[in-house]
Amino acid sequence: MSKTDITEKIVSLCKRRGYVFQSSEIYGGLNGCYDYGPLGVELLKNIKEAWWREMTYREDVEGIDAAILMHPRVWEASGHIDNFSDPMVDCKECKARFRADQLTDTDCGNKGYKGRKAIKCMEEGKFTEARNFNLMFKSYIGPLEESSSVVYLRPETAQGIFVNFNNVKEASRQKIPFGIAQIGKSFRNEINTKNFLFRTREFEQMEMQFFVNPNDDNKWFEYWKEKRIEWFYKYGMKKEKLKFYEHEKLAHYAKAAFDIEYEFPFGWGEIEGIHNRTDFDLKRHSEYSGKKIEYFDDQTKERFIPYVIETAVGASRSFFAFLCNGFEEEELVKENSDGSTSKEVRTILRLHPALAPIKAAVFPLVNKDGMPEISKNILNDLKNYFKVFYDDSGAVGRRYRRQDECGTPYCITVDTQTLEDGTVTVRERDTMSQERISKDNLLSYITEKIKFKI
Ligand code: ATP
Repeated sequence: MSKTDITEKIVSLCKRRGYVFQSSEIYGGLNGCYDYGPLGVELLKNIKEAWWREMTYREDVEGIDAAILMHPRVWEASGHIDNFSDPMVDCKECKARFRADQLTDTDCGNKGYKGRKAIKCMEEGKFTEARNFNLMFKSYIGPLEESSSVVYLRPETAQGIFVNFNNVKEASRQKIPFGIAQIGKSFRNEINTKNFLFRTREFEQMEMQFFVNPNDDNKWFEYWKEKRIEWFYKYGMKKEKLKFYEHEKLAHYAKAAFDIEYEFPFGWGEIEGIHNRTDFDLKRHSEYSGKKIEYFDDQTKERFIPYVIETAVGASRSFFAFLCNGFEEEELVKENSDGSTSKEVRTILRLHPALAPIKAAVFPLVNKDGMPEISKNILNDLKNYFKVFYDDSGAVGRRYRRQDECGTPYCITVDTQTLEDGTVTVRERDTMSQERISKDNLLSYITEKIKFKI
């Protein structure tokens, strides 16, 4: 199966099962924007929750939720007004628009040149000169479109953290080293959006800025680098699909930068950046706002501007990585009633149970003999704790297949034996193994498996 086929299969599964839809689809779609469907919203929420637990349920990290719209001076201080741009070129022939620094990896936009890379068109002189294009979406506060009322949709969540450094430090009485974490929407007017959720114009980020004594920056950089890759492993990412990439060319504010890359069907791509941003941001905000932003260590009597170790991960981009990581088409050999065999393909989303949208599905084997009532009772009991799905239509095998595609880790079937001894079968998604357990033990059995804290 080609790599493009895999992406297409995932996109199609996302639509079929209600993970992701194109934004404004009935109007022909809006490029670079996506809507999360009933299962997608659960998976995204679970990813964010897993990150939030990991990053903020510790003594030295606090959470915030800053406004998307911020004072326009923030973006002058951060350097986004001057530097947050990509070089853009237009093809004079087919009118397609490209990022000039990505031409080797980008397909030519002209339908008549299938398989050709845009760099070739550049070499043949088909492109305009590169010009810089600022990626921030601009709007205006109030009814007048004048320069004094300009606002931007934030292109990253980090700045909401920097400008609140003093507030959080004082309110929480944290001592350095400590971090501030935030999850939220960011917006970038990307020149080319491609590869489904990988590069979109509206997306969610999960960022944490850890403020340290400048003398300790290397130690904390190493600490967070390891912590972050471990988080992906913990939620089931295959080790061979993740790697670190070290930036040689650093941003003007950075002292060190590593990306965690995932091997998507279309190639390796960044899912998280771990950066040593030095004291650049706090210094600049202090300078631009005229407010003192610094730290006084009352033990050592040192006064300094903290360095920042940043961990910045895309919630939506890692959502896509988790889908790619879990997607599998397994070939099964089926024995037919006449003794012959045939092949069947089982599509599975092997999502970590803690991330899976639906934790368990409940099936009555048949719609009679009290089985639906027992099944409904199980459903009503479990749904107080996590998302459960009820399905009584079609053969049980078909119901299993549907849940495999949705990524549901456990399917519970109520059958004739349940009527006699109160046990049910629990079938596990990945191994398809079945266990009989008492229906009264279902809650503890599943919560233990999904490590879901009640
Ligand atoms: P890229 O080089 O891919 O444009 P970046 O280096 O600009 O990304 P950062 O500014 O470090 O990205 O943002 C941190 C994370 O936010 C990225 O690792 C990625 O997961 C996510 N992210 C950034 N831009 C987008 C986007 N357009 N769509 C989806 N996720 C994004």
